[in-house]
Amino acid sequence: MRYFELEEPEDPDSGQWSGEYRAKRRWYVPSQLCPRCEAWGGMQAYPSVDLSSLPDNEALASVWPQAPEEVARRMALVRPFVPPELPLEPGYSLGPLVGTARGHFGPVTVWPSWQVLVREDARDLLLGEGLQGIIPVRAELRTRRTKEQALYELEARPLAKLHPDCIDRAPPCPACGNGGFSLPPKRWLLRESVPPGLDLFGVEGTTRIVVSERFVDTVNRLGPSDVFYREITAE
Ligand SMILES: [Zn+2]
Repeated sequence: MRYFELEEPEDPDSGQWSGEYRAKRRWYVPSQLCPRCEAWGGMQAYPSVDLSSLPDNEALASVWPQAPEEVARRMALVRPFVPPELPLEPGYSLGPLVGTARGHFGPVTVWPSWQVLVREDARDLLLGEGLQGIIPVRAELRTRRTKEQALYELEARPLAKLHPDCIDRAPPCPACGNGGFSLPPKRWLLRESVPPGLDLFGVEGTTRIVVSERFVDTVNRLGPSDVFYREITAE
């Protein structure tokens, strides 16, 4: 199976589709303050996590940095709602996108590159063809057009890893243990970490979303999207 990273079109004005949206997410784990490395947080999102039944969820509406104790307190509130096998870190965002949309959308929309939305017919086709790892969450986007199809965000769980040989990892912060890496321009996946059979997944420690060749072939049956598919290999 070949795999591709989703990227925004190189020239946004060259696209075929006029659709754009402005949205924020409903809930957040706050970013974390550290006396040494200032404030930090991951950018992973879990749109399928629904905190509407959580009594204290008002306190989770902001990603504004907090002291480690407060981050830990709020994270403990959220943890039971997140599948146990998935990481949860400061800065993570939860729940559906909420906002406004205008214009016409293609089958797949990737803007920014860490969010992927599909039109309702694309969602139905992906699920109907039996693709795996497709977790659609309806984006709550108000629009003035009543005939426009609904948009669904696809949750990209960070299941795969970049190959260690392509990562230049900085030593972790001695105060808080935070240790990240910047996205290497030349990168490939660690083969044994690629989840077998899945057609969409995220990459640990990055904001990248990877889809299978089968995903690309399936959505292309609905016509062109303003998406650039950059092949990523696995070793
Ligand atoms: Zn730190």
